[in-house]
Amino acid sequence: MNLANLLIRSAQRRPNSAAIKVGTTIFADYRDLASRTCRIAASMVQQFGLQRGDRVAIAMKNTPTYLEVLYGAWIAGLAAVPMNAKLHRNEFRYMLEHSGAKLCFATKDLASDLSTLSSELPNLREVIDVDSADYSRLLENEPLDCVPVEANEMAWLFYTSGTTGRPKGAILTHQNLLAMTLCYFADVDAATSEDHWLQAAPMSHGSGLYNIPIVAAGGCQVIPESGQFDPEEIFKLLPQTPNLCFFAAPTMVKRLEQAAANWDVDSRNLKTVVYGGGPMYVADLKAAMARFGPAFVQIYGQGESPMTITALGRGDHLDTDNPRYEKRLASVGQAQSAVEVRIADEEGNPLPKDEVGEVLVRGPSVMPGYWQNPEASLMTLRDGWLHTGDVGALDDEGYLTLMDRSKDVIISGGSNIYPREVEEVLLRHPAVLECSVVGMPHAEWGEEVVAFVVARPDAAVNETGLDALCLAEIARFKRPKKYRFVEGLPKNNYGKVLKTELRKMIE
Ligand code: ATP
Repeated sequence: MNLANLLIRSAQRRPNSAAIKVGTTIFADYRDLASRTCRIAASMVQQFGLQRGDRVAIAMKNTPTYLEVLYGAWIAGLAAVPMNAKLHRNEFRYMLEHSGAKLCFATKDLASDLSTLSSELPNLREVIDVDSADYSRLLENEPLDCVPVEANEMAWLFYTSGTTGRPKGAILTHQNLLAMTLCYFADVDAATSEDHWLQAAPMSHGSGLYNIPIVAAGGCQVIPESGQFDPEEIFKLLPQTPNLCFFAAPTMVKRLEQAAANWDVDSRNLKTVVYGGGPMYVADLKAAMARFGPAFVQIYGQGESPMTITALGRGDHLDTDNPRYEKRLASVGQAQSAVEVRIADEEGNPLPKDEVGEVLVRGPSVMPGYWQNPEASLMTLRDGWLHTGDVGALDDEGYLTLMDRSKDVIISGGSNIYPREVEEVLLRHPAVLECSVVGMPHAEWGEEVVAFVVARPDAAVNETGLDALCLAEIARFKRPKKYRFVEGLPKNNYGKVLKTELRKMIE
């Protein structure tokens, strides 16, 4: 058992097929990729003295070498610690220290700053600049054979994005990631050797793990030339790149759709857009489908069960005659094949269909616990179930509708108000570009509803118009009592709105 065998097998089966492209230029075929990866693995063990189970941090923006380092760590029986390239130095420091990483591979832009940390962190032996001659020299090692590991050994130490506090390191094993891979094929998309998977989102994000099914199928990873998400680059790549697939967070889908207004986009080559990681508002989804066609699949997951809780398949997006079509689009779909999903009350007892409670998950994709954080592990994994902290309801056909993170639910006058429901209504106003709804302490009601609204450029919007819209669509008590019109919403590196920051802004 070793995830990296998926790469070795693809290299045996199709050595000459393109494994990685940068834009439209081939960077490596499968033979090259496997060879370079096994040489990097050899350097980790022989030169730097790492031993099975040690951690290797990856502080890289999206580059072809990312995959060499990632699979290199796995070949050598080590665990990778992905770190978003846009993190602050203090955040890098925290993860490097907490994970006990002995090596860190970094792109040029980050390497010199991070190497100053090796004198401060005794665990960190070396920071290697993957754009330097030092890295090229590592490729001169004799290749290492793939080290067999146990299914429950750690492959990824994944620090959650921290919208609810300090990032916690979810331990993800080889088994967890294989279960995720199985679910990709079964529930998201039948990956083939013809596929081009564009790494449009940061590869350090959970969606970066979707390189695994593509490697398993012998498909090609495409690294954007800009190294990041750029709608225009995607529009230019499309006509030249058959079977183009990528993951996009809802904010990215929205940006794509808006950018497409100024382009004559040829989306015939677009095979699949997997979206998720945050709420996708129905209005935005419909606009994107109208623009790009039948390519959309939604996933709901979290760092603790990466990319793998539920999926809303392509068919659901196209099933317009279904009387439940609208409800389906507002849902996150059904449990993925490897997992069970349950709705439970505060004690963990299962609730009947359509009742709202916490979403629990169990199955082989669920982490065994958090790294060096037994208290958080005990709180999150109870009686064999992962307590997601998300609130939702399952219907009679097993479709899950998410309301919100439990900490974001607003309780006003004793009634629960789900911000997402209010946000969906506000977004229907033609002048609203983005919005976010939070609860603020209120002497009489416990909490009151406050909406942050970003208007579209050149569009006018005011409190009266929005209040009228809410009155027409939702119960009076759910209406925002206060509005704040802002230029933009505070977001983290993954594009998720930071509601804690919004609450601080009001305070
Ligand atoms: P932290 O756990 O540190 O607070 P986070 O909440 O951003 O960070 P992640 O693991 O990065 O944790 O994101 C997972 C969360 O994102 C889920 O628990 C859920 O709230 C939200 N999410 C993921 N996919 C979807 C989706 N398809 N629709 C709505 N929300 C989603």
